[in-house]
Amino acid sequence: MLQKAIPQNHLSYIDPQADSPWLTYLSQVERVLPYLGDLARWAETLRRPKRALIVDVPIEMDDGSVRHFEGFRVQHNLSRGPGKGGVRYHPQVTLEEVMALAAWMTVKNAAVGLPYGGAKGGIRVEPSGLSRKELERLTRRYTSEIGIIIGPQQDIPAPDVNTNPQIMAWMMDTYSMNIGGTATGVVTGKPIQLGGSLGRVKATGRGVFVTGSEAARRIKLSLQGARVAVQGFGNVGSTAAELFAAAGAKVVAVQDHTGAVLHEPGLDVPALQAHVLAHGGVAGFAGAQAIAVADFWDVPCEILIPAALEGQITEARARKTTAKLVLEGANGPTLPGADDILSERGVMVVPDVICNAGGVTVSYFEWVQDFSSFFWSEDEINARLDKILGAAFAHIWDTADKLKITLRTAAFVVACERVLQARAERGLYP
Ligand code: NAD
Repeated sequence: MLQKAIPQNHLSYIDPQADSPWLTYLSQVERVLPYLGDLARWAETLRRPKRALIVDVPIEMDDGSVRHFEGFRVQHNLSRGPGKGGVRYHPQVTLEEVMALAAWMTVKNAAVGLPYGGAKGGIRVEPSGLSRKELERLTRRYTSEIGIIIGPQQDIPAPDVNTNPQIMAWMMDTYSMNIGGTATGVVTGKPIQLGGSLGRVKATGRGVFVTGSEAARRIKLSLQGARVAVQGFGNVGSTAAELFAAAGAKVVAVQDHTGAVLHEPGLDVPALQAHVLAHGGVAGFAGAQAIAVADFWDVPCEILIPAALEGQITEARARKTTAKLVLEGANGPTLPGADDILSERGVMVVPDVICNAGGVTVSYFEWVQDFSSFFWSEDEINARLDKILGAAFAHIWDTADKLKITLRTAAFVVACERVLQARAERGLYP
């Protein structure tokens, strides 16, 4: 067993429970400290967010009543550039979850070399319970409330779980109305006619495929006929499934918030996508057999893609998976103890901070295009994405090889050195 780091939360304003995403993040930071040399002097920077804003989001419901929702925007670190990270609408959103997601954005942006710090936002809400008008009012009021800390040069939100291009359009419009101009660069993941970028919708899933197929090549795992199990069939999971199936792999099982389905010869991914669009989830898909949600983790596979929420790969699941390759489409899907078990069992894990970085990379392209009002072709975007992610992955792989550490710790070494170097060079103000 590798030595387990025991993270100590030392912030008075949160009270994380065991297996919380913030503690997972802190334990990942502990593992990187021995590799930081003199930069370790600045390590405390990584253990606390620079700024966390909690907002009350009251809206008038269609029936005339008033409801209040909790909203958050956390800027974990701004040493390397403006904050960047998505906005999540989910009933389980908490301040400490948003803190962890913001911190992983700091690491991700630095690991890929994007000129951003890390940020994230969220509203504690079940959006499927709101009408379209209520969702719009919620989005506009939230944007107005966090408007004091976001902006094209300050902090640039983007889509995450349960948010999409329409929500980004409302955010862009609200911010623009408040400043009396049109600020397309304040959010990314917008519709194309509002300064969105071609390729953005599929960029995260594409990045999972690009990094995942490169990792498969390096561990000599052929994609041809490889069995793939995917948890989460939204933006990230469904695109990754589509690209792996197109490359000759068999997507044998999919699980989402509505249930789990299995088809050993390989699911018809486009048909499943159409079913999810029509019915809101994979449950009831005629082209597969329904299985118990818990049995999803027992399905034999070579490639496992968690693309839903944090903390899904527990120690028990890590012990029994047959996967040779785990591709973290989701942020923080693997608990630290499970990470150790996978590593001991020789399962290669491509960590979230590089595996799902395709989305923020194309968001960066969108932001650059918005500033110059000059838009690129989809081929150009995909080629640049493949090049940037491929180079970042190779650098992390080489670092892992040189230091004899996991890809996750290697990604943290690369990223934390960059973040803390920037911290050291900027110095402390005043
Ligand atoms: P999405 O809203 O499009 O899809 C979420 C999926 O997760 C859905 O299929 C949903 O059914 C499933 N899900 C939700 N709760 C679940 C549960 N309890 N058990 C099983 N499945 C559940 O969201 P998305 O954008 O695809 O995001 C998925 C993950 O990828 C998140 O961790 C997110 O932070 C991460 N991510 C997203 C992007 C992006 O560009 N959208 C970028 C990087 C990382």
